[in-house]
Amino acid sequence: MSIIFSSEILIRGYNIVGAGKREIWIKHKNVPLDGMSTSYELSEGNLSHDHEFPFVRFEEIAFATHSFSETCMIGQGGFGKVYKGLLGGQEVAVKRLSRDSQQGTKEFKNEVILIAKLQHRNLVQLLGCCAEGDEKLLIYEYLPNKSLDATLFDGSRKMLLDWVTRFNIIKGVARGLLYLHQDSRLTIIHRDLKAGNVLLDAEMKPKIADFGMARIFGDNQQNANTQRVVGTYGYMAPEYAMEGVFSTKSDVYSFGVLVLEVVTGIRRNSSNQTMGFPSLIVYSWNMWKEGKTEELPDSSIMDTCSLDEVLLCIHVALLCVQENPDDRPLMSLVVFILENGSTTLPAPSRPAYFARRSVEMLQIADDIQNSVNSFTLTEIQGR
Ligand code: ATP
Repeated sequence: MSIIFSSEILIRGYNIVGAGKREIWIKHKNVPLDGMSTSYELSEGNLSHDHEFPFVRFEEIAFATHSFSETCMIGQGGFGKVYKGLLGGQEVAVKRLSRDSQQGTKEFKNEVILIAKLQHRNLVQLLGCCAEGDEKLLIYEYLPNKSLDATLFDGSRKMLLDWVTRFNIIKGVARGLLYLHQDSRLTIIHRDLKAGNVLLDAEMKPKIADFGMARIFGDNQQNANTQRVVGTYGYMAPEYAMEGVFSTKSDVYSFGVLVLEVVTGIRRNSSNQTMGFPSLIVYSWNMWKEGKTEELPDSSIMDTCSLDEVLLCIHVALLCVQENPDDRPLMSLVVFILENGSTTLPAPSRPAYFARRSVEMLQIADDIQNSVNSFTLTEIQGR
C-alpha cells in the first residue's frame, strides 16, 4: 500500500517499533501531531497510527531540562534551541521549536516521520517527540562531542581529530549516507549534508543529523524537482542550487565537499586559506591538476597521516563534486573504495561549483552563521 505525502513523496507504510530503554519514559502513545495535517496527506504510516512511537509529555520534558533553563541549553539552530536533559536515566538532547516558526512545523513533522523509521549507527537516533498545543519538541540521543563543524574549525578542539579519527568520520558519514540512499527500506535524499549536521559521539564516531529537509523517493525515482531549494551555500550541487533538481547525486556532491573540509581543515567557502581561489573545491582541483595534492592535508595531521589514505579521500571527493551528476559515484562505490582502497579510480573531471557571483545575481544571501539557507530561485525564504 502506498501513501503520498507532499506532492513529491511516495513511500510504503510502516510500523515503528519502540524498544528497550525508550519505553521507560513513554507515558502516552497514539497522540496525533496536533494541527499539522495541512501539508501532508497521510493515511497509513501516519504517526498517529504508529502505536509504539514514543510521545513524551511536555511536562516531563520541562522537568528533564529544568524548565528549559539556560544552563541546560547546548545549542541553537534554525528551528529553535537545543537542551540537554535526563529522561528515564538517559541523557537526551531536546530540540524545542520556536513557536513562531511556520516552516518549522512542516520540517518538524518531516523529521519525525522520517527519522523515526531509520536506525543506523551513523544516524542520530530520534528517541521521541512531543506535540502539545503550540509546543513541538524532538528528543534525540545525546551526543557529547558537538558537531563536526564545531570541532574541525576550532583551533583547540581540532586536535581531537587526528587522521585516524578523521578517516573514520569520513567512512562513517559515507556509511550513514549509503544507508539513507540504498540500504534502508526507503530511498532518502538528505538535502542538507554538511559538517554542521554531523554530530560526534563520545568516541568521536559520526552521526548524521537534521532530517527536516530530507525527501523520500519511490522505488524507481531517480530525481525530483523543487521550487523551494533548501540547503547550505557551498555544499549544494549546482543542478540543485540553480535548477532545483535533487537526487542521491546531489547528496554525493555535498559529501565530496565535506570530505575536502575534513582532510584540509579548510571551510568550503574560505578564501583566505585557499590561495585566493574562490572555494575549497576550486583550490583542491587546482592543486590536483598541478600535482600538489600532497600539500592539501591540514597541517595538524600532515606529519601523522597516511598519505595513501589522504590521497584516496581527496580523489574520491573530487569524483563526488564532478559537474555531471551521472559521473559522480554512488555511495555504495564510495564506501567500497574508502574501505578497500583502489588503484584503478578514474581521474576526476572538472568539478562543478557555482560561483558566488551567480548566487548574488539571484539575490541569495549567504547566512553569516553558515546555517541553512532556504530560498526559491527568485526569493529568499527564512525558515
Ligand atoms: P541549523 O538548524 O541552522 O542547521 P544546526 O544544525 O546547528 O543549525 P540544530 O540541529 O538545532 O541546529 O543544533 C544546534 C546545536 O545543538 C548543534 O550544533 C549541537 O551543538 C547541538 N545539538 C543538536 N543535536 C544534538 C544532540 N543530539 N546531541 C548533542 N548536541 C546536539
